[in-house]
Amino acid sequence: MLRTTTHGPITRIHLTRTILGRPIYSVSAYLIDGLLIDCGPPRVAPELIAWCRQHRIQQVVTTHHHEDHSGGAGPLRRALGLPVLAPAAAVQVLASFPRLEPYRWIVWGQPQAVLAQPLAETVETAHHRFRVIPTPGHCPDHICLYEPQQGWLFAGDLFIHEQARYMRADEDLATLVRSLRQVLALGPDLLICSHAGLIDDACGAIERKIIYWETRGVQARILQRSGLSVRAITKRLLGDEGFLTLFSAGHISKINLIRSLLSHPSPQQGKDPGDR
Ligand SMILES: [Zn+2]
Repeated sequence: MLRTTTHGPITRIHLTRTILGRPIYSVSAYLIDGLLIDCGPPRVAPELIAWCRQHRIQQVVTTHHHEDHSGGAGPLRRALGLPVLAPAAAVQVLASFPRLEPYRWIVWGQPQAVLAQPLAETVETAHHRFRVIPTPGHCPDHICLYEPQQGWLFAGDLFIHEQARYMRADEDLATLVRSLRQVLALGPDLLICSHAGLIDDACGAIERKIIYWETRGVQARILQRSGLSVRAITKRLLGDEGFLTLFSAGHISKINLIRSLLSHPSPQQGKDPGDR
C-alpha cells in the first residue's frame, strides 16, 4: 500500500506492507527535487514503481542496506533505469544480498541484486546540495543526508523514535549515540525520519532521545546492582516483550536494548573523550 503526504517541497511516501489487507509494517521514503531517498522493501516495489512513473525522479539514494530501505532499488533500476547511489560499505551487500531470515522474508521480501554507485561526500540536485554524513550504529553503513541551507536532516533509521524500546541484536548502541551527537552538532532544523516522519524540533528530539537512553541506562544499572536479572530489568523498565520479539525470534527485542545499556559502564556512553 502506498500513500503520500506533502510537506512544502518534500513528499513523504508512506510504504506499508499488508498481509490479507491488514497493515503489518510501514516505512517512509522521501522525494525531494528529483531525489528519491530510500525506496522501501521489495514487496512494495511494484506500487513504488507505478508511482515513480508519474513523477520526476532522477536518482535514488539509499541511507543503508536494510531491505526496507534499499529493497526497491533493484526493481526501480530495472524498470526505470534510475541510477542508484549507496554508502560505499553497502554497495557490495546490495550487489549480492544475503538470504534473509524467514521473518524478514515474509515482511519485506528478498532484495534483488543491484549495482549501486558509492556515494561521494555530497549529492547534488537542481536546487540543493546534500552533505553525506556517515552515521553508523544502527548498522555500519548507515548515512544521513544533510542540506545545510534548509537545515534538513534526512536521517534514515538513525532516530526512529524518541523513546525507542526495541533494538536489533546487531545494533551498536554506543556508536549510535555517537552518531546522534554528531548530527546534533550540525544543528538541523527539520528531522526527516523513515519512521517518525518530519519533526520540526530536530535538535530537541535528538537530545531527548539521548537523555531517554542515558536515563534508562542509569536505572538499569541500579536495578542490576540490586540483584535483578537482565530479563527482570527489561520487564520492569520497558514492559513485556511484544509481538515483534516473538515474530523476529528475538532479533528485535527490548532485552537487546537493556543488554546494550548495561554493557556500557557509564551514562556518558557514546561520548567522545573530548566531549567531557
Ligand atoms: Zn534499518
